[in-house]
Amino acid sequence: MTLPFLPFARPDIGDAEIAAVTEALRSGWVTTGPKTREFEQAFVQYLGDHRLEAVAVNSATAGLHLALEALGLGPGDEVIAPTLTFTATVEVVRYLGADPVLVDVDPVTLNIDPEKIRAAITPRTKAIIPVHYGGLACDMDAIFSIARTHGLKVVEDAAHALPTTWKGALVGQLASDVTAFSFYANKTITTGEGGMAVTRNPEIAQRMRVMRLHGMNRDAFDRFTSRAPAWYYEVIAPGFKYNMTDVAAAMGVEQLARLPAFVQRRQQLAARYHQQLAALPLTLPANAPAGDTHAWHLYVIRLNEEAGHERDAVIQALSDQGIGTSVHYVPLHRHPYWRDRYQLTPGMFPVAEAAYQSMISIPMFTAMSDADQDRVIATLHEVLG
Ligand SMILES: *Cc1c(COP(=O)(O)O)cnc(C)c1O
Repeated sequence: MTLPFLPFARPDIGDAEIAAVTEALRSGWVTTGPKTREFEQAFVQYLGDHRLEAVAVNSATAGLHLALEALGLGPGDEVIAPTLTFTATVEVVRYLGADPVLVDVDPVTLNIDPEKIRAAITPRTKAIIPVHYGGLACDMDAIFSIARTHGLKVVEDAAHALPTTWKGALVGQLASDVTAFSFYANKTITTGEGGMAVTRNPEIAQRMRVMRLHGMNRDAFDRFTSRAPAWYYEVIAPGFKYNMTDVAAAMGVEQLARLPAFVQRRQQLAARYHQQLAALPLTLPANAPAGDTHAWHLYVIRLNEEAGHERDAVIQALSDQGIGTSVHYVPLHRHPYWRDRYQLTPGMFPVAEAAYQSMISIPMFTAMSDADQDRVIATLHEVLG
């Protein structure tokens, strides 16, 4: 009997999302408009801090780019970020002509190591981009303390971190300058493609709003609905085309409403993996500290060296049983562009390197059933037991 293929992630889209998208399509307004505003407001409401402003964009990459642009980053500046992340985290630094400085991660959490940040600071350092790997918060106390001491900006890459808490506060309402979330297809909520940049600084919010739509000082919906002449706007900078559509936002409003149920399911799945995989020669992903929330965007297992299993062979064995996996990530220092431009070698990042060699992201998504998960667990027991 061949079982259907089980992917490592799949979006959870229900009738509510389909109805909302249909309604948006029928409304006559498909680009940025009332649904986008509603999604931004619902997002601030969810984060629970009304001093925040949320700027909806068409990706987290766009959000990170707008954040660094608004903070005035430019050529000659350096930004410290972890090597164990997706290239989007730092490609935006290059968009602005600045240079990312990649550092190693903590062996337990796989998050950026604050000691490595301290060691990487130079007179050119302008910002830190922590990434809450897999949905577990970075040590934000240490990061904010370093930032304060050295006068650095902090832009959180929160692509995995909805909802994640640090000492009881949701990522998005911490003390950073901007936090960027992703609604890419495999993230904890999705709009197909989409993102949200969140800040408490009204000037940064305003700059990001202007720059997300061609550097125009009025967006299309404002021109369409306000009393001032509809045709008039002023271009105040060479902006970008980063706005979210109302079709995507309609989906986002419904996905956000389901987020509490989503995170509950992810927590259940993580707890079951923890329990059922505990006896195998694996390093299981770290839990959040007591009282904090792990978003469980990813469930990353690491093969213990002494058991002698090859990571690629285990991936193949799972694949032979119809189980999809991934690897998060091929560290940036291994990619030709970053490696060659900054002369990076694996020896500079021993922790990320060892983690990379042994890691597998196993299926983790809300729509998987207990039976789906049992298949993954049983196969891992067969291969590693
Ligand atoms: C998904 C992801 C991004 C990019 O998100 P998009 O919305 O696809 O631009 C950035 N950083 C990390 C760590 C990610 O996982």
